[in-house]
Amino acid sequence: MSGAPDGVELKNLADRSVEDLHGVGPKKAKALAKAELFTVLDLLTHYPRRYLDRTKEAHIADLVEGEEASVLVTVSSSSSRRVKGGKVMVFVTVSDDSGSLKLTFFNQAWRERQLSAGRQAVVFGKVEVFRGQRQMTNPVVDLVGDRTGRIIPVYPQSTKSGLNSWDIGEWVSEILRRTVPPAGRGLVDPLPEYLLDEYDFVDRNAAFAGIHQPESMPEVMAARKRLVFDELFRMQLALVLRKRAMERNANGVEHVTDGPLLTQFTASLPFELTGAQERTIAEIHRDMTRPVPMNRLLQGDVGAGKTLVAVAALLAAVDGGHQGALMAPTEVLAEQHFVGIRKLLEGLTVEDTSSLLSERPLKVELLSNRVTAADRKRILNQLILGEIDIAIGTHALIQDNVMFSSLGVVVVDEQHRFGVEQRAALRDRGYGETTPDVLVMTATPIPRTAAMTVYGDLDVSVLDELPPGRSPIVTRWVAAPGDLAQAPETTDAAADLESMWDEIRQQIAEGRQAYVVCPLIDESEKLEVASAEATFDRLLNVELDGLRLGLLHGRLGPAEKDQTMDLFRSGHLDVLVATTVIEVGVDVPNATVMIILDAGRFGIAQLHQLRGRVGRGRHQSTCWLVGEAQTEDGEARLEALVDSTDGFELAEVDLDLRGEGTILGERQKGRNDLKLASLRRDRKVVSQARQAAIDVVDADPSLEAHPAMADEIRLFLEDADTEFLLKS
Ligand code: ADP
Ligand code: MG
Repeated sequence: MSGAPDGVELKNLADRSVEDLHGVGPKKAKALAKAELFTVLDLLTHYPRRYLDRTKEAHIADLVEGEEASVLVTVSSSSSRRVKGGKVMVFVTVSDDSGSLKLTFFNQAWRERQLSAGRQAVVFGKVEVFRGQRQMTNPVVDLVGDRTGRIIPVYPQSTKSGLNSWDIGEWVSEILRRTVPPAGRGLVDPLPEYLLDEYDFVDRNAAFAGIHQPESMPEVMAARKRLVFDELFRMQLALVLRKRAMERNANGVEHVTDGPLLTQFTASLPFELTGAQERTIAEIHRDMTRPVPMNRLLQGDVGAGKTLVAVAALLAAVDGGHQGALMAPTEVLAEQHFVGIRKLLEGLTVEDTSSLLSERPLKVELLSNRVTAADRKRILNQLILGEIDIAIGTHALIQDNVMFSSLGVVVVDEQHRFGVEQRAALRDRGYGETTPDVLVMTATPIPRTAAMTVYGDLDVSVLDELPPGRSPIVTRWVAAPGDLAQAPETTDAAADLESMWDEIRQQIAEGRQAYVVCPLIDESEKLEVASAEATFDRLLNVELDGLRLGLLHGRLGPAEKDQTMDLFRSGHLDVLVATTVIEVGVDVPNATVMIILDAGRFGIAQLHQLRGRVGRGRHQSTCWLVGEAQTEDGEARLEALVDSTDGFELAEVDLDLRGEGTILGERQKGRNDLKLASLRRDRKVVSQARQAAIDVVDADPSLEAHPAMADEIRLFLEDADTEFLLKS
């Protein structure tokens, strides 16, 4: 590549302070800083939140009562009055050519000064009519100055700190004047010509000009399309670079996947693998045979049979003389896996040259914080010597003093509770030069495009088929108070509750068992425990009088918890009343009823997880969601659960309802520069950006031929290891 590209790079703009701009004095600079706008680049990427199209502008006379609208107006007068309790009301009269409109603000005393006579503003709100006079209460106000363009951009602003849309518009125009042609040198465009052609993108100059100073709304759309792609492309580039770097700098084990253990194991299963299990196992085994370490995510709904897939991965390692590890997020889950997997692998033997018979039983051990010091010492020793083939445990597995003889594969269950660092730590537990394969399993499916971002450095396998013979869980919603002590408001709800408890007593009489999940209380664990105890007492004395109830909550000691769980598992309790501490993977096939109290307060994923505790045996199961939906979204959530038992479908609904914030969450913290892009609205673009990133990185692994792209990743994604990613 030749030297510096000819033109302005975004990093140049990131080096310039907003104070370099005309008209930004110390006071405005302070206000900008408060809005986290420090550099010229910050301002250029501070996008309008909406546009006022003057060609389609509404006039006051056309405003319809009861509808929301925005109009461009001039302030005629403003006044204020103090009312009861020392609060202030501000009255503002505004007008346009067609008429006048009255604005009323409660408790926003500063509006009187802001909206002084003669000011131009766009107001947005619901139109009310009182005695023939149109009015709005607490409308959104944007000061726009005396703008002349056809389309006026309205910027997010903070009126209190003295930043208004029209100031921002002025500064942005100055930036554009100084950078984009004809006056400016032009912004460097990092995207190759072929991508611009392929997706019909406008170039970068047109994109920034079009988003800030459009002549028409189609121009805004074209600009947005390009800028959204840029954001997602930068993110995907970083993820794909990370993925490739991981593959390149590590030395994987070339596993055998047709060894005797696997063959015997598959032959010994009392059932056929599902098609999805066969497919995902094949995907995993294909990865495992390659010299590149596997980094794969297995997404599978509750009950889809992930454990068998995990065992198929672990056995492939053992077949080649290596070890496998399985890490679970809690002691209960680790123990459950240990018991289950040991049973699955009973009778299998491995080669042992030191033994007379030249073979020994395959050895599975549990390493958790509950094993005694002596056992722990023995286990650690046997791990180093390679006498343990499969280790199952919690975080205890990744402590520094745990070393394996030859760790070939690591399976992490329920990834959402583990961080990336912990995965990395586990990967480093082996001796020698090789890097173990990693399989991450999650029972909280997320939509495909979200997975590309959240888990963008992993390959994804999807287990989207339940084993046959399960009757789907029937879900019902009873819109009665989640607090049992409160009487329902309608006789309908009371009758629904009544028949719910009847049906549950009936199920228990037939020998089945039930869970009751207590209301979620965020404020404190103490309150939550108190509420669980109250629910327990109430059920014991009223609804479930005469039945055998157990109570499980976060304040119980491990021994008490174990004892209660054991009693429930062995059928000595009919009903388990619990807070959400009932562990994600608890497996009691005889339990067929799940009641979730105050269900409106739980999220979709959590409700789906809880529901997954039933429907594990041959009997028909029912899940009852008790509670009033607090919001429209709450209602949509509960209805989605009634309608679907498919975790993938629910994940899409969840993304639609909640947006990406929660999904991106922790993993993307600090490297989320999505200002315009939305994982929800721009699903298609996520896939396009990922493919484009893969194409670019595979042709040019360290972005040598794409210096502007490399610079932008460094600029936007302040990742400690961006440097490492870009090294060849
Ligand atoms: P999850 O994906 O939730 O971890 P599990 O691995 O615990 O699911 O499997 C749930 C249940 O389904 C277990 O009891 C397991 O034995 C059973 N199972 C798994 N695969 C099959 C299959 N192919 N056919 C029948 N039952 C299966
Ligand atoms: Mg599981």
